[in-house]
This record gives sequence, structure tokens and C-alpha cells, in this order.
Amino acid sequence: PLRESDPVEDHQITVCIRKRPLNRKETTRKEVDVISVPSKNQLVVHEPKLKVDLTKYLENQHFRFDYAFDDSCSNDLVYKYTAQPLVQTIFEGGMATCFAYGQTGSGKTHTMGGDFHGKTQDCKKGIYAMAAKDVFQLLKSPKYRMLHLVVSSSFFEIYSGKVFDLLANKAKLRVLEDGKQQVQIVGLTETIVDSVEEVLKLITHGNSARTSGQTSANSNSSRSHAVFQIVVRSPGVNRIHGKFSLIDLAGNERGADTSSANRQTRMEGAEINKSLLALKECIRALGRKGAHLPFRASKLTQVLRDSFIGEKSRICMIAMVSPGMSSCEHSLNTLRYADRVK
Ligand code: ADP
Ligand code: MG
Repeated sequence: PLRESDPVEDHQITVCIRKRPLNRKETTRKEVDVISVPSKNQLVVHEPKLKVDLTKYLENQHFRFDYAFDDSCSNDLVYKYTAQPLVQTIFEGGMATCFAYGQTGSGKTHTMGGDFHGKTQDCKKGIYAMAAKDVFQLLKSPKYRMLHLVVSSSFFEIYSGKVFDLLANKAKLRVLEDGKQQVQIVGLTETIVDSVEEVLKLITHGNSARTSGQTSANSNSSRSHAVFQIVVRSPGVNRIHGKFSLIDLAGNERGADTSSANRQTRMEGAEINKSLLALKECIRALGRKGAHLPFRASKLTQVLRDSFIGEKSRICMIAMVSPGMSSCEHSLNTLRYADRVK
């Protein structure tokens, strides 16, 4: 796995993988860990297979990414190689975007928003908060101080192709494309923030709005994309100078709900599938000059349109996998998707 001393590389698109530890429930039911991380950018899945004579054997499937984080890596380390190098982008007038992709329970929210159990939240340890901290640090640095940029934050959720404001009681919002091809979320709350503490309050507020009225068995949050944004604007003209979007994606296994008996679930599954496919195509388009950008194919890619264009745009995808044998199929789907993003 990656070590603290490994160099941070400079890519326009970074794709990495994070394996979480087996949890207590999995250990109790003697779940086997089928994923190993032999080097700083390699990951191997030891997939159980049946032989013709019905005995079992393990087949090794190798994957290579920009970075591979194993279950000993902390959020701090993951942050250092993923979102941290993108913070500077927004000061230099670019768009930065960081996605957490993976199966429900694989660690997306733990990585991005930090852990929260009911009312107690620990969002300080998540990438949202760490990015905000560095934004304020750079804002005060000699290099960028004279820009007098104004920082603000928004937090919204995309559920079943609709946008809900997590900082305004989940108000449903419309998305409009103006004559200049700018995509706008009409009425989205954008709160000016002056310190990390203020950002932490917004994250806590948005996180509780996101999970309110849910039981873990019927969790909408696994079917929605959460988008936390830090915007820096030039004073006076109020023009967007740069924007950092940090996204906790819907569980990718939900995209397979298209055969569910429940019509609502089926439609939500189809919507998730569509948005994750469009996302992959849009990221690939950023890396290929003249490639078609299918941003209108989903609400997620539509609201992120400006992140997929421009030489200054930078994107990082953190694909998360659960280590257990019972998650093997989903983990392989996640790895194949991440493999095709770049
Ligand atoms: P997701 O958002 O992908 O559905 P979560 O972030 O909620 O998954 O993670 C599921 C559970 O696993 C949570 O209880 C979380 O605290 C735990 N977890 C996830 N990643 C890690 C990790 N790297 N180390 C320790 N616990 C983790
Ligand atoms: Mg989650």
C-alpha cells in the first residue's frame, strides 16, 4: 500500500482505490478478506471460483490505479494524495472535483463527510472538512492573499434526478441552463464562510438533513448523490473564480435495482445507473481532447458541467471497496468501473 513517504503525483485525472477494514459484524460471521494491496498502486482480488468438480479455488484479479490505499491508511493519508493537491486549483481559477464511488457500506461517507452515528458526528476527520481547512489556509497565504477572494459553501443532494437543498430543509430546486450555457441551480443556498468552524457547522447541518427520517434498512442516502461545494469568488464582480465539488455518490449496487419488484426502486436504480455511466463518460471526455461530453444525460453531470471542461479542471475519483468475500461481485464491479474512468 501507499506510504507517507511516497511522492504526490500531478495528474489532471487521478483514480485511486481504498479498501476499508473488515468490520466487527463481518469478523463475527468469519467473513474472509479477499482483497490485498501488494504495492502503492496495485490491488488484487482473490475471487472464489468453483471448479468443474465443485471444489473451490481462488482466482487472482489484478488492478492498477494511481494509488491504492489499504485498510491501514487513514483519512489523512487518503486526503494527502487525493483532494489536497486539488485545493490549489480553485485559487488558480480552475474547477476541482473529488468523487467517492463504491458500494453502500464501503466507506464513502466515512472518507468524505466523516463518521456520524445518529446525533454525534465526527466530520472533522472527513475530506470535506480537511479541504475547507486548506482553503482557508491558502486564502491567507502570501501568494493568494491579494486576490481578496470570498469563500462560500453549498450542500445539496440529487435523489431520483431531482435536486434538494441540504441547507434549506431539503427544498426541491430547479436546474436551469442559461443562454451562455451556464448551468444554474435556482435558489441554492450559498453561505459565506470565514472559518473552518463555520464550514463544520454547515456540514453537520447538511449531514443531519440528509439522513433525517431514515432507518438504516430504508436508507435514501445510499440512493442519492451528496454534493458539497466550496466556491471562491472575486470580490465586487461576484464572478466565480474557482469551485471545489466534493461528492459522496449513491451506492453503485443500487444501479442494479432495475429488476426490483418495486417500481419506485426500479426507477431510482435506473436513474443511478444512468448518472454513474454519464459520469464516467464525462470524466473520460476531460482527459480526451474533442471528446463528446454527455453532461445532459443525468442531473448529476448536468450540475457539474463546468467541472468537465477547461484545461484547469482537475478530477479525483476514490473508489471504495469492502474487503469481504460476500462483497466480491460488487467490489469487482467497482474496480472495473474505476479502471475505465481514465
Ligand atoms: P458508505 O457511505 O459507502 O455507505 P460508510 O462510510 O457509511 O459507507 O461506511 C460503513 C461503515 O464502515 C461505517 O460504520 C464506517 O464507520 C465504517 N468504515 C468505513 N470505512 C472505514 C475505514 N477506512 N476505517 C474504519 N471504518 C470504516
Ligand atoms: Mg454513505
